Amino acid sequence: MRFIDEFRDAGLTQRLSSKISRISKKPARLMEFCGGHTVAIMRNGIRQLLPPTIEMLSGPGCPVCVTANQDIDRAVALAGIPNVTITTFGDMLKVPGSYSSLQKARAEGGDIRIVYSTQDALQIARDNPSRSIAFIGIGFESTAPTIAASVIQAEKEGIKNYCVLCHLKMTPPAMKALLDLGEIKLNGIICPGHVTAIIGTHPYEPYARDYGIACVVAGFEPVDILQAVEMLVEQIETANPRVEIAYTRGVKPEGNVRALELMSSVFDVTGAAWRGVGTIPASGFKLKDKYARFDADKVFKIETPPSREAPGCLCGEVLRGVVKPPECKLFKKMCAPENPIGPCMVSSEGTCAAYYQYGDFNG
Ligand code: SF4
Repeated sequence: MRFIDEFRDAGLTQRLSSKISRISKKPARLMEFCGGHTVAIMRNGIRQLLPPTIEMLSGPGCPVCVTANQDIDRAVALAGIPNVTITTFGDMLKVPGSYSSLQKARAEGGDIRIVYSTQDALQIARDNPSRSIAFIGIGFESTAPTIAASVIQAEKEGIKNYCVLCHLKMTPPAMKALLDLGEIKLNGIICPGHVTAIIGTHPYEPYARDYGIACVVAGFEPVDILQAVEMLVEQIETANPRVEIAYTRGVKPEGNVRALELMSSVFDVTGAAWRGVGTIPASGFKLKDKYARFDADKVFKIETPPSREAPGCLCGEVLRGVVKPPECKLFKKMCAPENPIGPCMVSSEGTCAAYYQYGDFNG
């Protein structure tokens, strides 16, 4: 554990905090895109370690949270098709759609199983040849390669009863969409560690070059995050925005070339619906036509009524960084992890859940 312990070192954390306070003169608004960073920041009280010049906002980097109601509704509808078994990561189970959730669908008799990997889903397909096994493909570029690999493996093994309901999303177009909306003025972005390990740093270059926004890729320990903040502050103070990596033990500038090849061999890029933003062109993945037999959208006729949002829920605004969870009137009153109204209160990476669990110090 020595390697990890270094990145949790209290003395180093304090020294970084002091340095940031010393060098930060201009007001700076930073957004962590990734839900994993949101949780790490809240859990470790990082906001309290920063000077008042720095405001931290959470972004749309929780894959469950950004999944639009219409897509959750489709997963629920798929669960209602006879002879279909749904396999999904656990976070998706309780996420409310417009009218129901996978958890409710399971209570009503749907065969819905939590899996920890696509390998588990494939095994369920092997063990149940008379049923159709659909995997709910939610996630970003960090998840996409394993789903691509599962499709290739299913094809290799001749598994005919496996398919993917593909709602995978790409992070850089979402960042661009947020910046183009112009609702929030950012000075810096803490770029996601796991996603960047796959896609590399190249996709962020337009944010520094064209939008003048400092970009630093961070890991998930307190020292990682404070190092990234320090690098961001240095860029902002010197008016020299660029893309840097603080998380050098996990990320290379070129990303993971093999994973990128795998993804591009299975997926085409398509528009995707994002909660709170709407459809963002070229921000999602769909299975290539040659893998149509593994595409749940092509295998089944999935019909849903028009989607709707939960009244009063501000998840869309939370995901855009426009409001913080305590500004939602339902927060901690009608909406809590035991009774979530919106996805941001359900997911382990959800901003509302993080605020609920760890408090809302420093707003
Ligand atoms: Fe939605 Fe609940 Fe968060 Fe409000 S507190 S934005 S209702 S998840």
